[in-house]
Amino acid sequence: MPHALLLAGVQGMGKREFALFAAAALLCEQPSIKGACGNCGACNQLAADAHADYRYIATEEGSEVIKVDAIRQLVDWLHLTANGKSYRVAIINDADAMNRNSANGLLKTLEEPGDGTILILVSNKPGSLPATIRSRCQKINITNQDAAAAISWLEGQGIADGASALHAAGGAPYRVIWQQEGEWSEEQRLLTKAWVDLICHRASVGKIVDSLKDYPTSRCLAQFSQLTAMTTAQQQGRQSGADPATVEAVSATVDCLQSEQWFTIYDRLQQLTRSDSASFKTQAVLEGLFADIRLMIQG
Ligand SMILES: [Zn+2]
Repeated sequence: MPHALLLAGVQGMGKREFALFAAAALLCEQPSIKGACGNCGACNQLAADAHADYRYIATEEGSEVIKVDAIRQLVDWLHLTANGKSYRVAIINDADAMNRNSANGLLKTLEEPGDGTILILVSNKPGSLPATIRSRCQKINITNQDAAAAISWLEGQGIADGASALHAAGGAPYRVIWQQEGEWSEEQRLLTKAWVDLICHRASVGKIVDSLKDYPTSRCLAQFSQLTAMTTAQQQGRQSGADPATVEAVSATVDCLQSEQWFTIYDRLQQLTRSDSASFKTQAVLEGLFADIRLMIQG
């Protein structure tokens, strides 16, 4: 095991879940190929959120940054003598939310984390992490390599048509679950409105981009990918099983472009998602994309 891992990939791919799975397996007293046993003392302590060799850091509620205090506490904890018998594992979720001080506070620890210490950084926007942090981590891209497994997992979660749902969610299985649970509804509503405004020419590109300034680029791209995927599905006469508001948005936009153009837009969105475009300024990425789409519509 390397001392520091960086799990990268789009939102909803299951990076955090994978980090939790790996942490549990590392701490378990009798792990198997399937991960932690779920029964031993270590597993019970972890389940009770009371494992002495485990820490989980994320943004606090209502805050968008991981503050330096949280990182300092983590670093202090890591410097306590490891017991030598087992791993100590710390997860930093949304690691790109560390501000400059936080990232600097973590740097030295990343260089010399100590015996048996494993830091797992999780990020949708690895490009936003300082290069000094990235270079000290082994990066693992979490992608949807096994769609069949994701589909059967979704169907096991009670999703009727796992294949369509996964496609509509841009291949990110947890997005399907979040949508099912009605999370992100306000964000989805706003992003969907921006998309309809763009395609139907209801506002200027500048104004639309401005309305999105509070949302991470990765989430905008994921939402637009989903809408585009549903639109192409509708053009091919496939049902996508979306909520009424999404169906309405798709109906409003579907005839504004030819089907090849929708595919072109979908490819562009996927490309932007894959490249670390989330690390660019939202405004620049979206402005370029939107201007090109407007040209397509006019052309
Ligand atoms: Zn166990």
